[in-house]
Amino acid sequence: MLELENVSTYYGNIQALKSVSLHVEKGEIITLIGANGAGKSTTLMSVSGIVPPRSGAIRFHGEPISGDAPDEIVRRGIIQVPEGRHIFPGLTVQENLDMGALLRNDPKGITADLDYVLSLFPILKSRRNQAGGTLSGGEQQMLAISRALMARPRLLLLDEPSLGLAPLIVQQIFEIIEMINRENGTTIFLVEQNANLALKVAHRGYVMETGTITMTDTAERLLANEDVRRAYLGV
Ligand code: ATP
Repeated sequence: MLELENVSTYYGNIQALKSVSLHVEKGEIITLIGANGAGKSTTLMSVSGIVPPRSGAIRFHGEPISGDAPDEIVRRGIIQVPEGRHIFPGLTVQENLDMGALLRNDPKGITADLDYVLSLFPILKSRRNQAGGTLSGGEQQMLAISRALMARPRLLLLDEPSLGLAPLIVQQIFEIIEMINRENGTTIFLVEQNANLALKVAHRGYVMETGTITMTDTAERLLANEDVRRAYLGV
């Protein structure tokens, strides 16, 4: 579904991605793990067109997308939930969700998806008329994921959904991530520092170090790998 081939991305003179190649198949949860500053967010932003690569190719369903503007990439069905959530704090929960469906023109489908996301995160239902900025961190993460789902993504890019959240909330959010993949078949590309949780929900994983992919395998095998355990799982 998604293919990166020798992608190199820069911030000015700083090379953040060095010839990154990876692929995501339809229906998978793929995780990209790595330390702070490894280039995980840059990988997602290269895909979503926010920081376009300087060289290499990105293909979605076989079509090149690396020259496309971010809004064109959204129209293709690639929807990113950015690190730090970035909901609209002054808009209500309902208005934030409406923003997710802005490019759609199927009122019945939108209503069905609204019911679906509110069933995934019932707390948002009771907060519907409350400003997004007044929600707790965990609720804002739920809203950010729900807003993305309102766009009915073909590929959902999740950047550090666990960041700054209490363990219980993180657990809940990861259960829902798994459920979204299982029930809807939504393909998910998950970037996480919490390697343990990410590898538990993912099918396959990639390990990134200083802008380079250093390892890839099934999530199960990465979880059992001694080097991964020592470097990323703290065991
Ligand atoms: P984290 O988990 O801390 O977000 P990450 O693995 O997502 O880390 P990136 O945010 O992709 O890493 O950063 C990769 C490299 O690019 C780092 O060296 C970082 O300092 C650099 N970088 C990121 N954003 C910028 C920017 N806007 N300008 C200059 N350098 C940047």
